[in-house]
Amino acid sequence: MNLILFGAPGAGKGTQSGFLINTYHIPAIATGDILRAQRRAGTPLGEKVKGYMDRGELVPDEVMIDIIRQRLQQPDAQNGFILDGFPRTVAQAQALDEMLARLGRQLDAVIYLRVSRQVLIERLSNRYTCPTCNSVYHFTPEQAHNLPRCPKDSSELYQRTDDTSEIVARRIDVFLKHTAPLIDYYSAQAKLENIDGQMSVEEVRADITRRLAARKRVGAR
Ligand SMILES: [Zn+2]
Repeated sequence: MNLILFGAPGAGKGTQSGFLINTYHIPAIATGDILRAQRRAGTPLGEKVKGYMDRGELVPDEVMIDIIRQRLQQPDAQNGFILDGFPRTVAQAQALDEMLARLGRQLDAVIYLRVSRQVLIERLSNRYTCPTCNSVYHFTPEQAHNLPRCPKDSSELYQRTDDTSEIVARRIDVFLKHTAPLIDYYSAQAKLENIDGQMSVEEVRADITRRLAARKRVGAR
């Protein structure tokens, strides 16, 4: 199953991605996590992307396509993958289609988690990340005064530099501006699953499962 998980920052991609990994036994390729790991390790790629990310801008297409192509050729991605955080523009989607075609592969479905701008801003402004396991937690400003440690590994949680309020609004607007046309692009390919991302985590999960099962049945006919 070759999937794209698509949604604005704060739409719930991380949560649903964990569920898809366990259900379909395929790896998530979260381009944001790959870029942040490179940045923390201070690699040449990390230095290159640092400037773009700090300003809430997009990393150049050819850099992203190259990272994904290398990742897709690793053994664990041979039965499928979940792309998270890419593509973000129609140009990237076209480049991705071409790259997949050269690898003899194609997308099965594009899952779009639809959440309003207002809800996204509320969710992201209260978001804290664990540097060890990448888990994400939400705290109100009052709770954040006495920030707990990660329950899984006791690491100190932090707020990503791109999760502070002005940059949050900027990231959401960049997402909406560049990626709205992607909805049309994948719709025209009959690959889009447009999901209400404001339902509960369990409801979103059930909706995704139902829709992917329906696609599998159609594909098997
Ligand atoms: Zn942790």
